[in-house]
Amino acid sequence: MGKPTLAVWKFTSCDGCQLTLLDCEDELLAIADAVQIKHFPEATRKDLPGPFDVSLVEGSISTPAEAERIKRIREETGTLVAIGACATSGGIQALRNFADLDEFQRIIYPHPEFLHSLEQVAPIAAHVDVDYELRGCPIDKRQLLGLLSALLKGRRPDLPKGAVCNECKQRGVNCLLVEGKEPCLGPITQAGCGAICPSYNRGCYGCFGPSDSAQPEALIPVLSRLGLADPDIVRMLRTYNAAAPKLAAAGDRLEGAHDDA
Ligand code: SF4
Ligand code: SF4
Repeated sequence: MGKPTLAVWKFTSCDGCQLTLLDCEDELLAIADAVQIKHFPEATRKDLPGPFDVSLVEGSISTPAEAERIKRIREETGTLVAIGACATSGGIQALRNFADLDEFQRIIYPHPEFLHSLEQVAPIAAHVDVDYELRGCPIDKRQLLGLLSALLKGRRPDLPKGAVCNECKQRGVNCLLVEGKEPCLGPITQAGCGAICPSYNRGCYGCFGPSDSAQPEALIPVLSRLGLADPDIVRMLRTYNAAAPKLAAAGDRLEGAHDDA
């Protein structure tokens, strides 16, 4: 039996999640030895045809050509994993979903008539079935290695559940919100980074996106009590995972409350 085949695909993104894989310096040779890499634009010009046992997909879908390409990749892939904030919620480029796309294109490009953009930037799961998602901007190296080794051994990957707050408790980090030091999105953010920011006395800004049980509406009054005005809270919710439905809905409701006033 040959080695399992791996492909790494790029859509609308900055390449940071692909770089996380390249960053696995110590483990990279073992990975390269355990799989046949068929496509990985950040690492090799090699471009072999499918099928692919595992596809790691970075980036969001923002053009009609990308919407077609991801369907072809899905058809040729056994296990498809969306990696990073762009692939799992649309990424920072989905901020344009909250603005006038035509106006942006007119301001930025001398010939917007050559652009072919979808009205909305969307995550991979909005276009095809996704088997697993790795969150983060960028993804966490340990999670990526854990996922790859599980898939190679035919195991189900054990991905973190719960919120960043759980990881603060595990690390013994004092809570920035409780101590009134910093606004923090940890209570509504998917665990997985190991609470990096709070461990350096920085509030979590939500780069892993909302957790399954996130309730942004419950956190908003807490952020207000720390002195944040509603437009500041909307800006906090609209960053790397702005288009994640729970964050988008909470931001829209806050904005709408002011529109109605
Ligand atoms: S510092 Fe932030 S992430 Fe950590 S426990 Fe407090 S609210 Fe949660
Ligand atoms: S603490 Fe929050 S912002 Fe910082 S790396 Fe973790 S999820 Fe991202």
